[in-house]
Amino acid sequence: MTSQILRTDGLVLRNLRYGDTSRVATLLTAELGKISVIGKGVREPKSPLGSSLELFARAEYVVYFRSGRNLQMLRSGDVIEPHSALARETFRFVYGSAVVEFLDRMLLEEEPSPPLYALVLRVLARLETTRRSRVNEVFRAFQLRAASILGYALLLDGCLHCDRSLDEAAFAPLDPSERGEIWLFRPSEGGALCSDCARLVESGYPLTVRALLRIRSMVRSEPTGANLPSSERARGAVDEEADDRRQEAEFRWGEALEQIVESFLHFHVERYRGLRSLRSQLPAPQR
Ligand SMILES: [Zn+2]
Repeated sequence: MTSQILRTDGLVLRNLRYGDTSRVATLLTAELGKISVIGKGVREPKSPLGSSLELFARAEYVVYFRSGRNLQMLRSGDVIEPHSALARETFRFVYGSAVVEFLDRMLLEEEPSPPLYALVLRVLARLETTRRSRVNEVFRAFQLRAASILGYALLLDGCLHCDRSLDEAAFAPLDPSERGEIWLFRPSEGGALCSDCARLVESGYPLTVRALLRIRSMVRSEPTGANLPSSERARGAVDEEADDRRQEAEFRWGEALEQIVESFLHFHVERYRGLRSLRSQLPAPQR
């Protein structure tokens, strides 16, 4: 079988040095999905591959492509966007690394998905600018949306057992001092049970209806991290005590979100085993 010369938009998920002057890299491309490539001589000063095999770089690549081959040969790469802000601050680097590691783990080779590719470009751009306190939520929203594109969608319209709608539960009258009804998120079932049905099962993560709605809006809308319920939007720092409480709540929310997303993925995606990128490098967030 002969090679074709193909041109594709792509992004570096992983790279390593090879020999004296070359690099081997895993790319996520718009047209070919995930592929492994070798950039011969890429580390020489005048290589036509330039810096197109640096981590996070987005480039237009020309590839000698043969389906099923372990390593495709790169002919050239023109950088479109280096995503260099991701390398400037540790927390951006850590979450940028988590995005590419996540994709590398979740994707099989040569299964292109234009919506997923577009989502990845949006989340990397977002991680270059978003503030530190929001970065975890931006990343978790990305994981849920990417999983959904790949066929692992959370079911958050209503209770998984009795079909009671989540929106109705959100509008049920409640004492203003209460947090509202508590539902039970069930990673194994990929959704939640209302408070009545939750009495019949043993395990799960208790969550308020409002928290479930927040997760649902993360799955359905852009990963902007801006979809907070109105009562939680920034109210200025006038009241420091309220601000501390909000930070504390955000911190707990971040931990809960992480557990929910990770437990859901571990349960449903066999080849997913968590992310090394997030395990060690992150210092404790400022409280
Ligand atoms: Zn129910």
